[in-house]
Amino acid sequence: MSLYGQCCRSISLTWGLSLAHLPSWTSTTEEIHRRGLWTMSAQRDFLIRVWSQVRRQLRANIAALTSPSPWSIGPPTSDLWSHRQYMAMARSLHIPHDTRQPVDPWRDLETAARTSLARAVDAYNFLEDSELSELAHRHAHHVAALVGGLFDCNIEYSDDTYWDVCRLTLMHSRWGMSAGFTATRNCSLCGQDIDYCPHLLDTRYDVTVRHDADGACNVCGSRSCSHTVGETVAAFPRSVMSEVQLHEVSWVSRPRDPLARFTKIELSQEVLRHGLGEDPTGRDVCCYRCLHPCSGFDHLPNRD
Ligand SMILES: [Zn+2]
Ligand SMILES: [Zn+2]
Ligand SMILES: [Zn+2]
Ligand SMILES: [Zn+2]
Repeated sequence: MSLYGQCCRSISLTWGLSLAHLPSWTSTTEEIHRRGLWTMSAQRDFLIRVWSQVRRQLRANIAALTSPSPWSIGPPTSDLWSHRQYMAMARSLHIPHDTRQPVDPWRDLETAARTSLARAVDAYNFLEDSELSELAHRHAHHVAALVGGLFDCNIEYSDDTYWDVCRLTLMHSRWGMSAGFTATRNCSLCGQDIDYCPHLLDTRYDVTVRHDADGACNVCGSRSCSHTVGETVAAFPRSVMSEVQLHEVSWVSRPRDPLARFTKIELSQEVLRHGLGEDPTGRDVCCYRCLHPCSGFDHLPNRD
């Protein structure tokens, strides 16, 4: 949530766009209801109008503050000033600033905003069943509207196929993948089944450091560590998984790993034709769904 806050703060403090003029998902949703815009196309026209105004304004502000003024006489002073502005923004958004690259505040703002959307969606996936779920859900809508409104959310086209990659839309499909697997857990010291070998998990044993065929250290399991091959160190036995067998990958509503969610879904021609009113055949398609009011969650059908 803090990265999203910093994006908004930087838009207003660094780039001079008052927060009162920055639409939010709540404000546009309320306005849509107040105006009685019930069809998708009426909502879309309204949202595109609102957001493109702000986008133009913000772009103009950034351009004015970062390029030398055509009216200034003498050595340009704004260069220094805009560099300071930029560094302030970069610091607040934690952007590693590469001094060899020309500054591109728009791109940096976009990167920060997209990162903050990915985090907001992850947070919802973690908090889904907690009392914070509604807060996390609304927060994801706010960030997605800012990202989609200012920087666009596009339907991806690759391999002759359109793919839905809208983080917010995919977040509303409440299913993911769970893997069922079995594996044997072997002792890192003797290689036998860790439940039956003589080594005790809470006892250190003297081990001579060596690397296995994959380059993994026998003491810590890492491929790059501070252990030196041949030296003797006191180490606890670790369990090493082997003979991993994947039995099934299933679609579930609550994956064991909350982040094991789909990151893109193929869009059929019918769906696209229905949504756009025509066949897009290869041209760029913009997703405006993340600007719209929430249309609820899709759940897996009960399969009993
Ligand atoms: Zn979208
Ligand atoms: Zn052992
Ligand atoms: Zn090691
Ligand atoms: Zn929603």
